[in-house]
Amino acid sequence: MRPGLLLSALLAALLPLSLTAATPPKKSAPVRKAAPSKPTAKPTAKPPAKPASPTAKPTPNVGFDLLIKNGSLIDGTGTPALRADIAIKDGKIAAIGSLDAPATDSIDAENLTVAPGFIDVHTHAENEVKGAVGGDDILSIPDAENFVRMGVTSIITGNCGLSSSQIRTFLNAVDTTHPAINVGTLAGHNTLRESAMGGILRRPPTPEEQERMRSLLEEAMRAGAFGLSTGLIYVPGSFSTTDELVDLARTAAEHGGIYASHMRYETTRIFEALDEVIRIAREAGIRAQVSHLKLSGPSAWGKAPEVLAKLNAARSEGLQITHDCYAYTYSSTGLAQLIPDAALEGGRDAFRTRIAHPEQRAAIIAEMAEMRKRWGRTDYAYATVARYDTNPSLQGKTIADAARQTLGSDTLDAQIELLFQIEANGGGSGVFQNMNQPDMVAFLSHPMTMIASDGSPRRLGEAMPHPRSFGNNARVLAQHVRGNGTLLLEEAIRKMTSLPADTFRIQNRGRIEVGAIADLVIFDPNTVTDRSEVGDPHHLSEGFTTVLVNGVPVLRDGKMTGQRPGKSLRLESNP
Ligand SMILES: [Zn+2]
Repeated sequence: MRPGLLLSALLAALLPLSLTAATPPKKSAPVRKAAPSKPTAKPTAKPPAKPASPTAKPTPNVGFDLLIKNGSLIDGTGTPALRADIAIKDGKIAAIGSLDAPATDSIDAENLTVAPGFIDVHTHAENEVKGAVGGDDILSIPDAENFVRMGVTSIITGNCGLSSSQIRTFLNAVDTTHPAINVGTLAGHNTLRESAMGGILRRPPTPEEQERMRSLLEEAMRAGAFGLSTGLIYVPGSFSTTDELVDLARTAAEHGGIYASHMRYETTRIFEALDEVIRIAREAGIRAQVSHLKLSGPSAWGKAPEVLAKLNAARSEGLQITHDCYAYTYSSTGLAQLIPDAALEGGRDAFRTRIAHPEQRAAIIAEMAEMRKRWGRTDYAYATVARYDTNPSLQGKTIADAARQTLGSDTLDAQIELLFQIEANGGGSGVFQNMNQPDMVAFLSHPMTMIASDGSPRRLGEAMPHPRSFGNNARVLAQHVRGNGTLLLEEAIRKMTSLPADTFRIQNRGRIEVGAIADLVIFDPNTVTDRSEVGDPHHLSEGFTTVLVNGVPVLRDGKMTGQRPGKSLRLESNP
């Protein structure tokens, strides 16, 4: 992120609205707070001298492809809304201001907000890792309606250490499949580690294996990956050393990439995990992103101020560290996370052998008791089955209820037996009531936090997934902007647009400015809302009327158009 931009973003976030409006943090043009429910006169102020001003004049005698009239424009930088028209030509924003020019098509955005399309930097959308985190893939669900309906026009996948092992092939497949939204990816460390190290993975790599990982990452970066992701709670990432990660992060940094980490701990040990992220950022000289920042388990709750203080201190040291967060107190991942890594190593056959062996089984159960103690849990009733293909009738039930249904008992022993059976029979994913509201709100509202779902392309009616894939951005706008007023609308939008674009170096998106690619959303800030809830997730968000991707409407007047103009996103600062 450019320092000036960072400063203006911080100012926009920290100053009260009146002060922000009186001293605009970036633009010198007089701006007015738009009142979407009460139409106001168009700004009559003369354009300022700056060439990239929002009132840049259209080229004369050129018809536009599309004119969006009368909207309340929020440009993505945190600058207060202003009333303006937007003209689009050849997929780009051609003019902004009070426009009266010929156009092939037009949209009246009276009483509506017009913003840059939302960029969700934390998703799981590739088929190779399907099941690992309960995700579905963008190539088989290319209309991505669950994302479009909450305003998301670009996603970054390959998170939590899990990516396609063939990034160039994956990105090329995106371009031939033509999804509705744009798709970029990170290179997953777990994926690299599995490719480079065969056999027993519970060890550091040999120098040859480290070199192999490095060259696979190099190839991924050359193909356009946005950086390296880690998933340090997942096998085999959980067996990695910090030195191994520093070395790989250096390679990602050489190509302009970011280090995005699902940290080793999100519990009471989160401070050790933050130390590791900070060390990697410092020693590898890389920008770092803490993925889905959270505090898991009752024993960790309430520590958000300390966590943020540690991140702020790292930034004041000059490190570029940012974070993303989703707007739920529930997490979601594989149910295998409730079982010790040592029991899972080597795959399902090895797991089945271990639980059939009385002594090994007892050791696994003893370690699970230690894990529950650390998390502040007495059983697994806080976990709900999201997806279990072997017995879908358990989907939506807590582990306790599912144990009663299948084993006739909901005791702790029965719950453990059920978890073993699920893992032995192919594994499943869960939704976990894991966080508390004050921590989540503190993380969400920090100026360096972007809004990201940790979600996937979804089909309505399939399994019982976490609601974040259907509602995350809309929920922020409904609950944290309109509801409790934690965030100004302009600030919430900044966290969904320019902040992720700048952090991940996604070129020419995330802002409404002349020359930018026309990824745009139009929505009613008074009605926008999520409808998806835990246990009843299959509802699309409401309130978005039009969504443009690369200048083409994928949602128009509340209806999916069937158009799929999405493209692969590739890191361009790659040498
Ligand atoms: Zn993760």
